[in-house]
Amino acid sequence: MRRLTRNFKLGKVGIGSSHPVSIQSMTTIPVSDVEGNLAQIGRLHSVGCDIVRLAFDRAEEAVFLEQIVERSPLPVVADIQFDAASAIAAIKSGAAGIRLNPGLIKEPAELWEIAALLLKYDIPVRVGANSGSIGTNEIRLRTASGAGHDEALCDALVEGALQQCRSLESFGVRKIKVALKASSVGITVMACRKFAAATDYPLHLGVTEAGTAASGSIKSAVGIGSLLLDGIGDTIRVSLTASPEEEISVARRILASCALRDETPEIISCPGCGRTEIDLPGMVEQVETLVETLKRSNSPIKVGKIAVMGCPVNGPGEAKDADLGIAGSRSGEQVILFRKGKVLGAFSPEEGFSRFAGLLSEAD
Ligand code: SF4
Repeated sequence: MRRLTRNFKLGKVGIGSSHPVSIQSMTTIPVSDVEGNLAQIGRLHSVGCDIVRLAFDRAEEAVFLEQIVERSPLPVVADIQFDAASAIAAIKSGAAGIRLNPGLIKEPAELWEIAALLLKYDIPVRVGANSGSIGTNEIRLRTASGAGHDEALCDALVEGALQQCRSLESFGVRKIKVALKASSVGITVMACRKFAAATDYPLHLGVTEAGTAASGSIKSAVGIGSLLLDGIGDTIRVSLTASPEEEISVARRILASCALRDETPEIISCPGCGRTEIDLPGMVEQVETLVETLKRSNSPIKVGKIAVMGCPVNGPGEAKDADLGIAGSRSGEQVILFRKGKVLGAFSPEEGFSRFAGLLSEAD
């Protein structure tokens, strides 16, 4: 059950509990490189990204943003730091949304102007509280009144996000999405749960500075996954020190593991053991690539679950619930194909893969 939230559109993507949880990423190229950004956005689009964010810090670069927005296949969100002029220029450039911290806009008149433009262009804004922006004084004040450090940080994040929402609501802005982030998974989860229980704002989930592909994927899966399983979360970003495309691949797997996105066919594989005589990781990669290629070319895939197993001794039996399976042979020189545990035959790897590809489009 998803937590009920207010709903609105960000470009063509629906945000909120009436819509699927969407995946975001961010380009890694300066906005002035229009072609580079568009190429990266194109790649993100092809691997399943729903929304793309761009760092936008100079109002005078609006001419580039405008071109990217116009040609992007994905809704573009302008990520603003603290410059009101950039926020204003981004909205006027046609961005589908902006990310802004109203607390960092010092002049009330500037915030009023941004709010008026958000209403005029009818686009949403994402506000957020980040552990990095919580002052040590604030934590000290909260711990002095009896709270533990983590609780104090969590409360400061929730209060900070609420203040930003109140500030925008006072100007009539209602299309607000909220992110609460800390590099600690526990604090992120705690803060999001607390904020979710108190409001109906859609939540953007992410663990900030999560790390490399390996450690960041695990941190994100634990943090984002815990919240999604609670029904909390409307958009997600897996922040990795890796390529944006890799972020999407991990995000899709997290959503599929939480049964929030249909990632059929499901591909399962055994870990391999002393009985494995074949290049098992290579075989899994070959199957994943084959499935992705078929999906991208809209070729029909009629199996729901595929198994890739290291050996014929236990492989077909252990994966008998798979609609189609491929296993390494005893000698490692052949592959075995099987359906629902029933062996279809042993073939050379070339012939086996060719038959396997054909069987993917055949119903049981
Ligand atoms: Fe080992 Fe075979 Fe089981 Fe894979 S299927 S873990 S290779 S026994």
